[in-house]
Amino acid sequence: MKATVFHGPRDVRVETVPDPTIKSPTDAIVRITRAAICGSDLHSYHGSQPVVPGFVLGHEGVGVVEELGKGVSHLKKGQRVVVAGAVACGECFFCRRGQVAQCSVSGAAVFGYGKNFAGTFGEIGGEQAEAVTVPLADYTCFPLPDSIPDDAAVFLADILPTGYFGALNGDIEPGDTVAIFGCGPVGLCSIITAQLFGPAEVIAVDNFPYRLDLARKLGATAVKVDEAQKYILERTDGRGADVAIEAVGHISALEAAFQAVRGGGTLSMVGVISDPSISFPMMAAFMKDLTFRTGLANIRSNIPHLAKLMERGKIDPRPIVSHTLALDETPYGYKIFDARSEGALKVLIKP
Ligand SMILES: [Zn+2]
Ligand SMILES: [Zn+2]
Repeated sequence: MKATVFHGPRDVRVETVPDPTIKSPTDAIVRITRAAICGSDLHSYHGSQPVVPGFVLGHEGVGVVEELGKGVSHLKKGQRVVVAGAVACGECFFCRRGQVAQCSVSGAAVFGYGKNFAGTFGEIGGEQAEAVTVPLADYTCFPLPDSIPDDAAVFLADILPTGYFGALNGDIEPGDTVAIFGCGPVGLCSIITAQLFGPAEVIAVDNFPYRLDLARKLGATAVKVDEAQKYILERTDGRGADVAIEAVGHISALEAAFQAVRGGGTLSMVGVISDPSISFPMMAAFMKDLTFRTGLANIRSNIPHLAKLMERGKIDPRPIVSHTLALDETPYGYKIFDARSEGALKVLIKP
């Protein structure tokens, strides 16, 4: 099959690799009909994840079940499914509590990440490919209703549950002012899902005009980074935002979120900080009586209700799609998404 293969920093190529196989009775093979490039794939693209050359990338995919291991009982061949970006068993102590990112059976193994986040399966191949082997397929695959098209469903694989996790962890109450730092695809998904909790205003902070434009279309007030603190204070009688969500994974955005949140407020961080030297501003958190939440999003346990909201037309992430490319064009997709050029936001791949 054809797949997107990592060769080295900023060097990904689409080439022929061995077809995926059933390695365990609980595996399924899913033929991918839509995949996506994620912001966290850029860590691999930059060479800052221990992905080895020759490894297939990608953890966001939708497809059709092609082959089933003997132990898979809930799926049928030919069924459309979204593959959750991280494998989960659905039955362990953590999964039964919805904390699937802590699944003790899978170790929350993520597709296409090489040794990092490899969980208990060793390395599992990526989904920017024609097909993928899905471990613990009964739970990791979520069957899709026909009314959710692939372009929307692919958001369920990771970034919509991740953006939602950021909003959920903010404990947003009706009438709250929510400030969201970062309007990349995850931040935009937080903008969409924060509104499910009835805030008075969602303030989106970023520096790229095309991202701020979209944030505005999705229902937020949009401000540039250097104007954000002043605007947030103006809108909250000088107190600060009730909830701040960090959706970048960078110290400058985290510091801005700490500054923007009011005393007694909640700071929810969904950005992935890969720089180990960053220190937590303990004293600021202490003096502000802050609630701080972060973590790897619980993807699979949040798919069913987000899918229901999509089905009923309450949320639609498709405006975030900026490009839909053929599999052969994936390297170009990485290039523009990394450079934030050509208005790149969510780049989808159609194998
Ligand atoms: Zn992702
Ligand atoms: Zn589990």
